[in-house]
Amino acid sequence: MIGLVVPSAAEMGPCGPIRSACDAKIVSPNGPDDEMGPVRFAWLELTPHCNLRCLHCYADSTPERRASTAMEVADWKRTLRVLNERRCAGIQFIGGEPMLHPAFEELVSFSRSLAFARIEVFTNGTALTDNNIDFLSQHGVHLNVSVYSHDAAAHDHVTGVDGSWQRSMAGLQRAVGRLSMHCAVVAVASNTEPSDTVEFLRGIGISSISVHQTRPVGRGITVTRGESKTCGQCNSGCIAIGYDGLVRPCVFRREEILASVDDYLTG
Ligand code: SF4
Repeated sequence: MIGLVVPSAAEMGPCGPIRSACDAKIVSPNGPDDEMGPVRFAWLELTPHCNLRCLHCYADSTPERRASTAMEVADWKRTLRVLNERRCAGIQFIGGEPMLHPAFEELVSFSRSLAFARIEVFTNGTALTDNNIDFLSQHGVHLNVSVYSHDAAAHDHVTGVDGSWQRSMAGLQRAVGRLSMHCAVVAVASNTEPSDTVEFLRGIGISSISVHQTRPVGRGITVTRGESKTCGQCNSGCIAIGYDGLVRPCVFRREEILASVDDYLTG
């Protein structure tokens, strides 16, 4: 059995909630010397498809990009099973928008049937309904939600989709008090202050919030100046498994292929 100490927002690395479980102090109740698996946290990039088209998206996701067929549901389940056997403690479903993957709930349920200490979903919040919030709550899922501004027009300018702020905020407000949740304020909107967005989020009952800069990855190249691609804590027991059937060291190190998923799982 693996224990997990969840870090405060201040303890998170610069990649913030994308790395929250990665940076979490995943510890064995048998003490710090208890042997852990070499990978303690895995990002599972379920799909390149997203209903938004954010200016800074590291994954180049858009509504036009469709799900890849390189990883079928059976491949994801095999991946989850092997990660669990290797004592990986935390996973995060990410995309694209992972909640739009047709097998999202099936994969969350399957993950819960295994012994992961922490299951996270990184979402834009637009697909949060009462029903799926109940589902996520029943499965003990921790939610990370990206927010760009307290101002609807500024947020929608970043996402490229009118009405996205309204939908994300409605989802967030439904989830407050029902899910363990963190909001990542990404400083992309040039005409609003991240601190005002933090105050706004506090006002609707969200207490775990962090502020992040964009990273020069994917479309982030066009809106980022001088920031490093990564948080500098690379090779610390994390991997990213992609919808394209490839394994990378981090979601931000997209050009670095470690192995095919097949080779990784059988290696
Ligand atoms: S919500 Fe996330 S995955 Fe979707 S376009 Fe924006 S940054 Fe990319």
